[in-house]
Amino acid sequence: MPLDEIIAKIKEKSGLTEDQINQKINQKLKQLSGLISKEGAAHIIANELGVKLFELNGKLKIKNVLLGMRNVEIVGKVRNIFPVNEFQTAEGRKGRVASLIIEDETGLIRVTLWHSQTDNIEKLKQGDVIKIVGGYVRQNNNRKEIHLNERSKLIINPEGETVEEYKEPVAERKEIKGLSEGDVAVLLGTIVQVFDPKFFTICPECGKKPQQKDNLFICPQHNAIMPEWSYVLNLFLDDGTSNIRVVFFREQVEKLLNKNKQQILIYKDNPEQFAEIKNDLLGSIIKLEGRAVKNKFFDRLEFVANKVELNPNPEEEIKRLEKINTFKNAV
Ligand SMILES: [Zn+2]
Repeated sequence: MPLDEIIAKIKEKSGLTEDQINQKINQKLKQLSGLISKEGAAHIIANELGVKLFELNGKLKIKNVLLGMRNVEIVGKVRNIFPVNEFQTAEGRKGRVASLIIEDETGLIRVTLWHSQTDNIEKLKQGDVIKIVGGYVRQNNNRKEIHLNERSKLIINPEGETVEEYKEPVAERKEIKGLSEGDVAVLLGTIVQVFDPKFFTICPECGKKPQQKDNLFICPQHNAIMPEWSYVLNLFLDDGTSNIRVVFFREQVEKLLNKNKQQILIYKDNPEQFAEIKNDLLGSIIKLEGRAVKNKFFDRLEFVANKVELNPNPEEEIKRLEKINTFKNAV
């Protein structure tokens, strides 16, 4: 929904003036600087004012969950259940946290249960339908999560609620020029620029970024941990129609470089040794499967790779292209 439509709807339902609404949006933008777009901020304001933007089906769907939302009411089907972890709070009290992945026909989302909410874990099984009341949305690892505190409610298998399963979109061969946000696609192109890999620490249990306190690494879920190194690599891929920045995380970096973790960690301390690799990669043709995402910080489209094929069979690819072109000409 475009920004002016959201503002118009808030205006109509809340009785606020456009200036007042814009002021609230700008405050929210400042508060969550860099994390959301203006549309996102407008959605949150609508939610806070109780203005329903998606009234067609009346209910909040997973794909419409937005960072900063409070009092979230949503129904989903349990897809994965993760065990309860105990930790010590800063004040020395014992805390508990657990999580689930739920789905509806529009997507998947992690649900994080705090303290007494974790009692629900042993009552739940895969395929149960849950209704969440009074959840709130946080960002973790660049993904949105619904959190439940002591005041939230989790209702297991509420009467009359059914939930469709989420079907992962099938990746389609696409041209870079034609990509738009959220597309799951297969790209074939030439590597035209390679950046040095970046190294960072993660919790070995959950992959989250730990906070460093003195000499300790603290994971928000697993308390004091021994962090592991992970890495990310960016490059530009060009397919003749356009080019795009592609992001490779951990396993995808390993596949792209055809090296294991130990071999890749050498570049952390000897970045000059990466020059040779860069040279080898430049000009090579690769096939990637992944998702087009908007980098909000730079306001540009990027492609996050989740499958890498290093030496795609050129004959097969030409045949495939011919097929696409025949199809295009026929339409
Ligand atoms: Zn962890």
